[in-house]
Amino acid sequence: MSKRDYYEILGVNKNAEASEIKKAYRKLAIKYHPDKNPDDKEAEAKFKEAAEAYEILSDQQKRAQYDQFGHAGVNGQGGFGGGGMNMDDIFSQFGDIFGEAFGGGGGFGGFRRSGAGRRTVKGSNLRVKLKLTLEDVVNGVEKKIKVNKLVQAEGVEYTTCQTCKGTGQVMRVVNSFLGQMQTASTCPTCQGAGQSVSKKPSGSDQNGMVRKEVVVPIEIPAGVEEGMQLTLRGKGNDAPGNGVPGDLLIVIEEQNHPDFVRDGVNLHHDLYLNFADATLGTSIEVPVVGGKVKFKISAGTQSGKTLRLKGKGIPDINGYGRGDILVHVNIWTPQNLTKDEKAFLEKMQSSSNFQPDPEAKNKGFFDKVKDMFRH
Ligand SMILES: [Zn+2]
Repeated sequence: MSKRDYYEILGVNKNAEASEIKKAYRKLAIKYHPDKNPDDKEAEAKFKEAAEAYEILSDQQKRAQYDQFGHAGVNGQGGFGGGGMNMDDIFSQFGDIFGEAFGGGGGFGGFRRSGAGRRTVKGSNLRVKLKLTLEDVVNGVEKKIKVNKLVQAEGVEYTTCQTCKGTGQVMRVVNSFLGQMQTASTCPTCQGAGQSVSKKPSGSDQNGMVRKEVVVPIEIPAGVEEGMQLTLRGKGNDAPGNGVPGDLLIVIEEQNHPDFVRDGVNLHHDLYLNFADATLGTSIEVPVVGGKVKFKISAGTQSGKTLRLKGKGIPDINGYGRGDILVHVNIWTPQNLTKDEKAFLEKMQSSSNFQPDPEAKNKGFFDKVKDMFRH
């Protein structure tokens, strides 16, 4: 869609002074104002078009760019990239144009009919952190969470708001240079809820609410992860009157485990073998979540080898199976030796069987990486 020339839209010539541009826009804004032209799409389009033209031509820098490059020079500026200006932007511009003509905080609030009307009052959300052990994560767990939340005080009574008769908005007749206009704004008494407190028990706040500790049971599914957020609809703060309660948000925190590091659905475990066991082979126990399993180490096991315990990792939260435990073999090098041990090893030191296989150079690490990323 090709855009009309901004000067043409405002009906001014290219050398127009700032005051002339402002005057021209003011005239158009009054003529096409949505409150003067209810449900008139064409007027609304003209209103927006004029606002966009003014946005550019009232800014010295943007105007210079527009003069030099046309619409291409100012595309994406002033917050109306492709989609044109929105009404909020336009109305916020009015303070500058009309000064305080309309007075009152919020300036043109009354014009924005879309914002008025009765609102459903919603209680605020509550957020709690929940620390889980690895066992909880693997098995899923039921927790009881203590929440200090807002509830309606015992004995509180609500009644239809007298100020707005339950509609949530008040109408005002305003005399302005646009003529006499009726404007709607949010009821100041009930903040748009349409209800107010008629009987307020002592100790409750102005909405008739008090804090109360409640216990909320929650079923944590297996496979949750650090930072994950579970939402319990309607378990947050209650709302006054016949409003709807907010949500309870549970943020998962994982406790560190002494034996494992988590990596998605897999768990990593560092295993240290003594040099003789790795050489001769042995049977050992390795930890799994919630227990131990026996594991055979075959003779000649190299440091850096990764052993995989299939299906002993973390269940996928969406039910796609279960991860593995990856056991990373390290050979423990003795650091304190008796004289005899030392003498024995010195005898072995030059034995050809003790020399690393030149082919094995870096192989441990490569195997490990290959294995870790195999899925
Ligand atoms: Zn009201």
